[in-house]
Amino acid sequence: MPAWDYDIVIVGAGPAGLTAGIYAGRARLKTLLLEKLIHGGQVMTTDLVENYPGFPEGISGFELSDRMRKQAERFGLEFRTGEVLELEPGPEHHLVRLQGEELRAGALIIASGAGYRKLGAPGEKEFTGKGVSYCATCDGALYRGETIAVVGGGDTALTDTLFLCRFAEKIHLIHRRDAFRGEKFLQEQVLAQEKQGKVEIHWDSVVHEIQGRHAVEALALKNVKTGEESRLPVAGVFIFVGITPNTSWLQGCVSLDEWGFVFTDGEMATSVPGIYAAGDVRSKLLRQIATAVGDGAIAAFAAESYLEHLQR
Ligand code: NAP
Repeated sequence: MPAWDYDIVIVGAGPAGLTAGIYAGRARLKTLLLEKLIHGGQVMTTDLVENYPGFPEGISGFELSDRMRKQAERFGLEFRTGEVLELEPGPEHHLVRLQGEELRAGALIIASGAGYRKLGAPGEKEFTGKGVSYCATCDGALYRGETIAVVGGGDTALTDTLFLCRFAEKIHLIHRRDAFRGEKFLQEQVLAQEKQGKVEIHWDSVVHEIQGRHAVEALALKNVKTGEESRLPVAGVFIFVGITPNTSWLQGCVSLDEWGFVFTDGEMATSVPGIYAAGDVRSKLLRQIATAVGDGAIAAFAAESYLEHLQR
């Protein structure tokens, strides 16, 4: 009899965790997936996923995630809501501490994803939920007919600027450099919106303050090349300046890179035997649903091999 409650415990229910769950379920391993609040991770707030193969017309993040979850359930994955407070790795099993409960896991897959990076500008914290947003799908419709701003130059800023064009009258896109980081395909679409006057791009510019009385009313901008300062009246600002890994709960259990993402090898193994990581939480080149899914499959397969060796 194995000396643990679950063969595998997966932490996080985004595409990486759900895919690991599908593979572990099909391998007939007793697997528990722990999710913090809602399943799906960041993909749930993506309006339209256009680059995940198999959906030529695109698919909403919510639907894609829901389908993955149903697929995992079909193969016997057990789900539970709960936040991991502490992890204690061990040679025979790993202890996963939740509120008032302790679980023994033969292997563990960290798929806790990443959250929104903050700008750190004065007013940002104060006006979050009062004009400062990190989720276009959640809050975009509130700005029908309004003038708003988007901050950032990556895929999220570009995708969500295009999404927000459906609601806002005008969008000021503020980027700190003179070139976007996001996909060329998205850049072309945003530049087409600029030609139509729907989007105005503020290159080489940063937000140094978010201003208002009870809610956002304006942004104080600074051109980083000329030093020129200006005030931009807006009804809301969407901040898409990247992501930070959800790894504080690991408390130094596994090796992390300088930004806090989990180091793994090509088999998704972390610095601790029997602990794997998959998806956005991992230190890697490209954070996409397609890469998260691949990570999840490898992590489950590697965990299965690890458990087989352990029981020999
Ligand atoms: P990202 O690729 O890291 O881009 C962050 C952007 O914010 C960059 O343009 C960066 O500027 C800017 N930025 C960072 N810190 C800033 C600060 N303090 N002030 C002002 N600007 C700042 O992040 P992301 O766009 O959220 O994307 C995260 C990952 O998800 C990426 O791997 C992306 O490909 C993926 N993603 C994919 C899709 C899709 O497949 N459709 C959609 C969304 C996201 P610099 O360019 O100067 O560094």
